[in-house]
Amino acid sequence: MADATDLKSILKDPSLLETRAYINGEWVDGDDGTFDVINPARGDVVAKVANLSRAQVAKAIGHAEKAQKEWASWTGKERAAVLRKWFDLMMQNQDDLGAILTAEQGKPLAEAKGEIAYGAGFIEFFGEEAKRIYGEMIPGHQRDKRIMVLKQPIGVAASITPWNFPNAMITRKAAPALAAGCSFVARPAAETPLSAIVMGVLAERAGIPAGVFNVLPSKSSSAVGKEFCENPAVRKLTFTGSTEVGRILLKQAADQVMKCSMELGGNAPFIVFDDADLDAAVEGAILCKFRNNGQTCVCANRIYVQAGVYDAFAEKLKARVEKMKIGDGLESGTDLGPLINADAITKVQEHVADAKAKGAKVILGGGDPIQGPGYFLPPTIVTGCTQDMQVATDETFGPMAPLFKFEDVDQVIEMANDTIFGLASYFYAKDLSRVYKVAEALEYGIVGVNTGIISTEVAPFGGVKQSGLGREGSHHGIEDYLEMKYVCMSV
Ligand code: NAD
Repeated sequence: MADATDLKSILKDPSLLETRAYINGEWVDGDDGTFDVINPARGDVVAKVANLSRAQVAKAIGHAEKAQKEWASWTGKERAAVLRKWFDLMMQNQDDLGAILTAEQGKPLAEAKGEIAYGAGFIEFFGEEAKRIYGEMIPGHQRDKRIMVLKQPIGVAASITPWNFPNAMITRKAAPALAAGCSFVARPAAETPLSAIVMGVLAERAGIPAGVFNVLPSKSSSAVGKEFCENPAVRKLTFTGSTEVGRILLKQAADQVMKCSMELGGNAPFIVFDDADLDAAVEGAILCKFRNNGQTCVCANRIYVQAGVYDAFAEKLKARVEKMKIGDGLESGTDLGPLINADAITKVQEHVADAKAKGAKVILGGGDPIQGPGYFLPPTIVTGCTQDMQVATDETFGPMAPLFKFEDVDQVIEMANDTIFGLASYFYAKDLSRVYKVAEALEYGIVGVNTGIISTEVAPFGGVKQSGLGREGSHHGIEDYLEMKYVCMSV
């Protein structure tokens, strides 16, 4: 994969590989030239993408503001019809969308195609919800009063999204926004803009009106973030990324008292109790820890195993991880792709070194990155981890599985909740009373019980504590894009 032409050559529809910004229904070059998108498996340039200036972002917001008024006047059924077309086009082009995603992000093609189906699911789901944005009639508080509650679109919604799920993190926001009657300006991560831009190509083909969905790539993020927070036409900021950047954006958005959704970092505990089905727990841990090579906000970050099954679990996990094949995500049979860049490798290495220095034992991996192009790091399993290690407090965001030993339920609940984060958590157990008690005691927005996979468009996804504000997915997800208006009538 040397350049954009090579990626084009493996696409069934090469016109899906667009590198310009999509603003008000037009394809636009960047005032600030272009920036390179790197294939993390090969280290070379996949494409040169339009680098927008802050002034161009401001102009796009102006177009989105105008387009929103008309879009909001469409009936829910009319909006649903074009969203359905957008969904259909995604699924019809799933192979190509997956290949574009793998080329810029690295995850194995099967996972990339899975992300496209997951991302498309939000468009299908929220398109249907567009028809069900119900208001409310409340019995009047006086005999001559009638009370009506209207739900109306908030206006222009702006998104900033990460590179780890470059398609789904955008559709999870754009779908409820558009269904609600908002217009949308998306600033994708600089590492993975192609998966966002192709959504503009499909939006145009689906007949989404000009200005309703806009894609604004840029190398630098801070100027765009400021424009989103300072431009009075933007009424909603929706962000997915680290807690650190979320805090910056929340502070910036405060001046305009802007409505914000924040999907931030996680530090998921994955607990294996002694009554668990151990083989199922190992499979769950594989999916939960190594999907997207550990670069997932809901990834198991800390694996707590009860003393009686600790050694057996460690052995089984090791045997399973040893079989995983590392390679270019575009090649068949790959289980683990590259990490996104060199910094990601350094972070994993730091966590492994810190754990070793504090007494943990590496039972698999722990070595250097694979030499050659691309950012490949073999998976690592570490036993004997303790709460004072970096891996207990920070997201590793990479292929390191740290095993902690615990004795009883109370102890592990305390350890699991001992974090500023509260996104996803998991546990494996069979005893019904234990299942209820632990699910209730975990201070997390999401709890997976006897499963390592929890993401779906039909359920409310989001975190508590410093993992975020708001929920995405399910009928709750559309509320973040709606204002409530109370109308009091004297009759
Ligand atoms: P990041 O916070 O560094 O970047 C996220 C996005 O914000 C990127 O597009 C980046 O360019 C942009 N950004 C960075 N600084 C900015 C600023 N000052 N102003 C405006 N935009 C700015 O995170 P990342 O490394 O891209 O992604 C990994 C993080 O995302 C992890 O912490 C992960 O847990 C989190 N995440 C959370 C969810 C969720 O649903 N809760 C989902 C995926 C990823």
